[in-house]
Amino acid sequence: MSDLPPASPFRLLRRTLLGWFRKNRRPLPFRESPDAWRVWVSEVMLQQTRVEAVLPRYEDFVARFPDPGTLAEASEDEVLAAWAGLGYYGRARALHRAVRQLAAEGRAIPRSAESLRRLPGIGDYTAAAIASIAFGEPAVAVDGNARRVLSRLFMVEGFRGRTPFEGRIRELAERLMEADGARNPGDWNQALMELGATVCTPAVPRCGRCPVREFCWSRVAGRQTEFPERPPGPPTVSVRLAVAVVRDGEGRILVFRRGESPMRGLYELPCGECRSDEAAAAALVRETTSRYGIHLQPAREAAGFRHTVMNRRIAVVPFEADLVSPAPGGTAPEGRFVHPRDLDRIPSGSMLRKALERVGLTRRTPGNPARRLLVSAPDDP
Ligand code: SF4
Repeated sequence: MSDLPPASPFRLLRRTLLGWFRKNRRPLPFRESPDAWRVWVSEVMLQQTRVEAVLPRYEDFVARFPDPGTLAEASEDEVLAAWAGLGYYGRARALHRAVRQLAAEGRAIPRSAESLRRLPGIGDYTAAAIASIAFGEPAVAVDGNARRVLSRLFMVEGFRGRTPFEGRIRELAERLMEADGARNPGDWNQALMELGATVCTPAVPRCGRCPVREFCWSRVAGRQTEFPERPPGPPTVSVRLAVAVVRDGEGRILVFRRGESPMRGLYELPCGECRSDEAAAAALVRETTSRYGIHLQPAREAAGFRHTVMNRRIAVVPFEADLVSPAPGGTAPEGRFVHPRDLDRIPSGSMLRKALERVGLTRRTPGNPARRLLVSAPDDP
């Protein structure tokens, strides 16, 4: 018999969802052990990125940097290269700064959400997730999934990010956290997020399979998809970009280092904006001359593709091109030639890899998306 007082609706809801989570949670690698470093890396990678995209990179990253000290000793280039494909590189730079700060101060990973929050790149959510999962602190971690579940369970009105909505969500999350003596805070935070990720999904919540449907106000009202209300986002910007794949006699590819945010430090192919597919070749010649100080001769146009960076929808027109003059090192000293098989060693975005694939320099391999680009360079067997 339970030694607890009679269950309140909040306590019942909590116990029901925790029971479901323990039976149904996905076997994710960062859940295998509540190691603070593994939790920290996973939480940073999962910010604005889906689990499916994170998994292949996560294992490689923690194998290469098994603790904060190893990452602190790495150069920024090494960190960005290990992060390649995940996007939002500011996260990797902030993680790098944070472990360097700990190393400089001779400290281990802080155990409380309050101390974690003082490190670069760690906000309220990430601090609470690490503190609750790794150290058992009853800190409330509310990500987008948990926010959606709570807003639907209790029909919380208002826009995400606005004070009345966020205040009400936090109040509910704290009441639920405390409802059963704040037991198992890490599991509870993950249970709420797991329900949002797998059952209470944005467009079509699977209410028939939901373990807490009996507690859900919006399901009873038939208004599930009305919560949470969406604030108007920034307008989408459409861009057309011509990019050039230029090779030297050894099959190496010409790349330039980006100087501006948010892609600062990443290598890209020479490129230039254009108004139409027909104008792409001329724009490429003109733009690469003014931007990189080189003169290109487009030789062959390959099939285009779409690429998205934040609110920019980019139509990419890839070309194979010849370098007429001069070699990089003049106007744009950050230019260099890199062999395709060495691309994993330099920080570069997924658009570069897609363009190489389009011109036939790489091909996809099924399975691990982190290694899906298999280089087929001219001097390979
Ligand atoms: S009943 Fe439906 S809307 Fe309510 S929490 Fe469950 S899945 Fe979400």
